[in-house]
Amino acid sequence: MSRVAVNVREKRYPGSCGVALADLNFTVDSGEFVAILGPSGAGKSTLLNLVSGLDRQLDGEVTVDGAAVHRGEHPAGRFGFMFQEPRLLPWLTVLDNLLLVLDDGAGARTRALRLLEEVGLAECAEAWPGQLSGGMQRRVALARAFAVSPALLLMDEPFVSLDAPTAARLREQLTALWQERRPTVLFVTHDLEEALCLADRVLFLSGRPGRVVLELPVPLPRPRGADLWQLVVSK
Ligand code: ADP
Repeated sequence: MSRVAVNVREKRYPGSCGVALADLNFTVDSGEFVAILGPSGAGKSTLLNLVSGLDRQLDGEVTVDGAAVHRGEHPAGRFGFMFQEPRLLPWLTVLDNLLLVLDDGAGARTRALRLLEEVGLAECAEAWPGQLSGGMQRRVALARAFAVSPALLLMDEPFVSLDAPTAARLREQLTALWQERRPTVLFVTHDLEEALCLADRVLFLSGRPGRVVLELPVPLPRPRGADLWQLVVSK
């Protein structure tokens, strides 16, 4: 688990006009699940790239457990990143896609198979990604994100453009995996219902340049899923 502190005075892209992020400040506690909600162009992906250390060009500082991410090795150690596309390697089986991110050590195969079971894909271990539906590919990507036992998990609209039941099932599986392992999660979405269904806290970003305009704790019991509005009404 990792505590994240974001203090961005300004983030500009070289050669581009305008500012992507300005005065963006927040912290995420160890093991907390925070959703980042905002309009397109608000800088949500930019923010995740800064937290991951993939992009180190900023005026300000992002720290994980007190250490700056833009200097040297990432302080979270192992972190997971899940994108909008599953990004599976088509020439490897489902199981090998998971083994690729695991150390070779004893138990890697057992761990990978257990994760596939947890996302309901135990029987697809030897299948090729191209043989799976879009929803199943995202489940493999979800299992892969957890395979590294991440202290920090960054998720960039991972369930976008799925049909409603498939997205709901993935949210359930994410909630179960997170509750069991408790990595710190930053989950980017533009779907308010999704944010309320998953997160301990929702941060609303303004349009460009993005900064936090509202912070909303979500003290509802889990799992939330289809009962979300029932939970809100009965509160
Ligand atoms: P969001 O994820 O909220 O849709 P982005 O982080 O993708 O927003 O983009 C924020 C702003 O930064 C946008 O105005 C976008 O055009 C700009 N931007 C993003 N990536 C780059 C880049 N590599 N070069 C120049 N400008 C970029």
